[in-house]
Amino acid sequence: MGFLRLLSRLGMVAVMLVLLTARPAAADERAVPTFAPACHVASGPDTRAESLRARTAWTCDQSQWRSDVPVMWLRFEAADWKGEALPQHFFTRIARFGAITFHAIDADGTTRSLRHTEADAAPFAAGPVFRLALPEITPQTTLILARIEGPHSVPLLTEAQITADPARAGWSQIDMMLLAFVMGMLTLPLLFDISFFVVLRERFVVLHAMMVSAMMVYVLTAGGLASTFVTLPVALMAVLAPLSWAIGAGLSALFLSQFLERGAQSRAMRRVTLATGWFTMIVPGFFALQLGATQSFDDVGYFVTFLPAIAVITAAVVEALARGSRSARFVAIAWAPIITASVERLLRGLGWHVGPSSLDQMLYVAVGIEVVVISLAIADRFLALRRERDAALTEARMLEQISTRDSLTGLMNRRAIEARFDEMVAQGFDTFALVDLDRFKAINDLHGHQVGDAALIACAGAIRATGDRDAVAVRLGGEEFVVLLRGPRALERAEALRQAIPMRIAKEVPGLDLPVTASMGVVVMGDAGRHKMAFAEFYARADALMYEAKASGRNRMVYERLTVFRSAPEGRKTGERAA
Ligand code: GH3
Ligand code: MG
Ligand code: MG
Repeated sequence: MGFLRLLSRLGMVAVMLVLLTARPAAADERAVPTFAPACHVASGPDTRAESLRARTAWTCDQSQWRSDVPVMWLRFEAADWKGEALPQHFFTRIARFGAITFHAIDADGTTRSLRHTEADAAPFAAGPVFRLALPEITPQTTLILARIEGPHSVPLLTEAQITADPARAGWSQIDMMLLAFVMGMLTLPLLFDISFFVVLRERFVVLHAMMVSAMMVYVLTAGGLASTFVTLPVALMAVLAPLSWAIGAGLSALFLSQFLERGAQSRAMRRVTLATGWFTMIVPGFFALQLGATQSFDDVGYFVTFLPAIAVITAAVVEALARGSRSARFVAIAWAPIITASVERLLRGLGWHVGPSSLDQMLYVAVGIEVVVISLAIADRFLALRRERDAALTEARMLEQISTRDSLTGLMNRRAIEARFDEMVAQGFDTFALVDLDRFKAINDLHGHQVGDAALIACAGAIRATGDRDAVAVRLGGEEFVVLLRGPRALERAEALRQAIPMRIAKEVPGLDLPVTASMGVVVMGDAGRHKMAFAEFYARADALMYEAKASGRNRMVYERLTVFRSAPEGRKTGERAA
């Protein structure tokens, strides 16, 4: 397993590289404060800032956060930053939106406004946040109203803050280290997948690699890690995060249906799992695009259409566990944290509970756990499949043995020699010696079949010529054998084998009163070497010679050396053409 060790080293190097290259914003000791909005309120598209000066119309607690409204207003009050540096920047969680307009309202009613579109927003160097410049804030400013048109996500609203120092808005170094670590954890399984696929062309390995890639895109974009390497438009980051999550979740369902052992899933469950996989990639995947036309429902649509995936994957794992699946145990351990964390994230995304964004870290850790445990599961499955394959190979070899060997003597059988005959002739076997025991019927009649069998085994032992790669013995059937020979003095060697038979039988089968001899008919191809003869033809000729041997008194060998009288070379036609 030296290869795997090398892979794990590479993985470690990858983790270190990511840790080194992630340059999170240094946590500031002289912390400049950040200010959350005191109140918020939803409105139609036509409500103007002037009508919202009084606090009465506003919701000043954490309730009624919604992203399915045309406009959400945030109210920042000067009382909050009294005595501190004046805020200059607005920042919040990355998501798509139509436009954000700030109104800085002074005590005398002077209002300075600044309108930004999505394209003006810049992601921060650390964390999934983007920043926008506020209009000029003066000591006379009493109120800042942020008018967020067409918001596509609740955290875009709930996590909004203003500050004097934009560096304060980024995530902490520890958070970014964690993300980098998760990224490192993800590279290792990807390498594993590639090496497994080389050996084991299973579809689930490919699906897992795709899943891991989707999770990597998720960690890079949802966690904002990508911003430490490149500056991507907010809209792209905002789409890639939920889209990669939807694709990853959909692929997980497809992976599950491929990965579980045969019989671990009912046919209905398998179908539902597959369908849910495609559904999750397509439907939540579509809502992830956060198009203008779907603004009023895509946020809820995205989270709600995730529910089937969570339910079906859970049900499929439970069913497989109940059916005793070993793979399902790994999957259950791998997916319990991620399902728990995504349910929490789902509820937070829907605004059903407002939690700190640090809860996101739970999801990233769960992603890391998932990928590593699933890799172990794949390794386990890999070993099991290989064991299965080895067992099948052994069985196939055994079956081949059975079908090509004679069960009584262990010699090659007729089927095998017929199949290999041409090949053997090509390899130079040019002498065909047919052996038949003499008056064998009498042995059976006098001593019984068992003694007859023992004699056949002894005869096979005599003609087997162990260690001689130039003589191959075959039992054709009954008490009839063939020895194929090649090389010098093949005829003499065949005759020596024949003569060894009575001695061997006498030695191995005690109690026979007379020696058991054998007759032999031998066909030597000789200089007719290139003349291809079929097995049947050899056999017929040798049999005729055998008949002669039997007829002239048995216990002897009769042979024939084939010669071919070559006709004149066929050159006449060529000659005619030349003329
Ligand atoms: P010949 O010298 O003319 O060959 O006489 P033979 O008795 O050997 O002639 P034949 O070929 O008619 O008899 C073959 C006998 O071989 C018949 C059968 O009893 C016996 N035999 C064939 N297969 C087996 C076997 O597997 N085991 C045993 N014990 N006997 C077999
Ligand atoms: Mg015989
Ligand atoms: Mg016979």
